[in-house]
Amino acid sequence: MTEQTPIVIVGTGLAGYSLAREIRKRDKEARIVMVTADDGVSYSKPMLSTGFTKGKDAEGLAQAATEAMAEQLNLELRTYTTVTGIDTAGHRLLLGDHSLSYSKLVLAWGADVVRLTIPGDGQEWVFPINDLGDYRAFRKALKPGSRVAIMGAGLIGCEFANDLRNGDYEVEVIAPSDAVMPSLLPPVAANAVQAELESLGVRFHLETVVERIEPADAGVTLFLANGEKLKADIVVSAVGLRPRTELARAADLDVGRGITVNRALETSAQDVYALGDCAEVDGHVLLYVLPLMACSRALAKTLTGERTEVSYGTMPVMIKTPCCPAAVCPPPPDAQGSWETEQDGSHVKTLFKNADGDVLGFAVTGRFAIEKQALSKVVPPIHS
Ligand SMILES: Cc1cc2nc3c(=O)[nH]c(=O)nc-3n(C[C@H](O)[C@H](O)[C@H](O)COP(=O)(O)OP(=O)(O)OC[C@H]3O[C@@H](n4cnc5c(N)ncnc54)[C@H](O)[C@@H]3O)c2cc1C
Repeated sequence: MTEQTPIVIVGTGLAGYSLAREIRKRDKEARIVMVTADDGVSYSKPMLSTGFTKGKDAEGLAQAATEAMAEQLNLELRTYTTVTGIDTAGHRLLLGDHSLSYSKLVLAWGADVVRLTIPGDGQEWVFPINDLGDYRAFRKALKPGSRVAIMGAGLIGCEFANDLRNGDYEVEVIAPSDAVMPSLLPPVAANAVQAELESLGVRFHLETVVERIEPADAGVTLFLANGEKLKADIVVSAVGLRPRTELARAADLDVGRGITVNRALETSAQDVYALGDCAEVDGHVLLYVLPLMACSRALAKTLTGERTEVSYGTMPVMIKTPCCPAAVCPPPPDAQGSWETEQDGSHVKTLFKNADGDVLGFAVTGRFAIEKQALSKVVPPIHS
């Protein structure tokens, strides 16, 4: 008897594993092969920025070993296997000098960290953190009392700043924006989170960038564009993520900001799908967990015979800064309206309303953060 050509899933991050789990709820037997460039260990990526707060190192954040995942999900898992191309006409995935035939192919290969080319000889002190392997290397390099400089004041930079202060490290944050999380939070909420992080001891250097990093007697010196010089033992680079699109583009798949898919997660090539951080779903690039969970459920139905379109509900983003918990549901980019704010120090509730008084977005910080669930019910879903 010939073996069934498998469904192949590339990537064992939250998107890949969630999809495999959802398929197994519907079909216990379909042949699935998962391919990953890393070790395949299952972990929850959002937890990487909570290690000190939760008292966990890299091993403590791992949730299940690769073999356990393969057994639990009844599938074949190929680790340390990097995809090098896709032959869409031949339905083959290229793995260096090998290839793997697929019946359906799912790209769940995530996003790459943006790597800045900063002059100076200090690159070996710079750590981007986008997976468990990066986190393991970072924790190994971190020594008690290390001075940490974080480049970037987005969600990831701010979460690491809070977590490292909870671990008693000295933290400096450098970013070109004039506020923290500028693409996520309205200024009033951003200022509240920044103020509480400052009270915790985080030092911000905003509206400037790191121009050069040079080794010093201990650690490195960062030379900032505003003339400041900072000493650090280790540098975290948290300047952004970019969906991985290169191999998709090389295979002639349509690509925009991410791999272009419709609401059924179909790429422009037959039998090839994408979800998670690498995908641009119906025009939305949302590098968060809620969207990829919704996509996993819809795609599992499609792959088991019931073509299904994903429907994005309201997608609030929780910001894990325990010194000032925050949640935000940004209004649609083209929405007309204004923010209405209720504030008591760092406790902020701000609602984005249109001319009719409809709430189209919100941000809540501090004690108002508990209202996120109730407010999420008021804001219209992304897909109505
Ligand atoms: C520190 C941090 C905190 C976060 N906090 C939150 C949060 O609080 N809430 C939230 O909603 N989101 C958060 N996010 C974002 C969220 O974690 C991601 O959206 C999600 O984990 C992405 O999952 P993914 O499976 O798409 O990608 P990934 O987890 O990046 O998985 C990609 C997989 O593809 C594999 N791969 C890549 N290229 C190849 C190749 N060529 N060949 C083979 N395999 C390949 C990789 O090895 C990996 O297994 C956070 C992210 C970070 C970094």
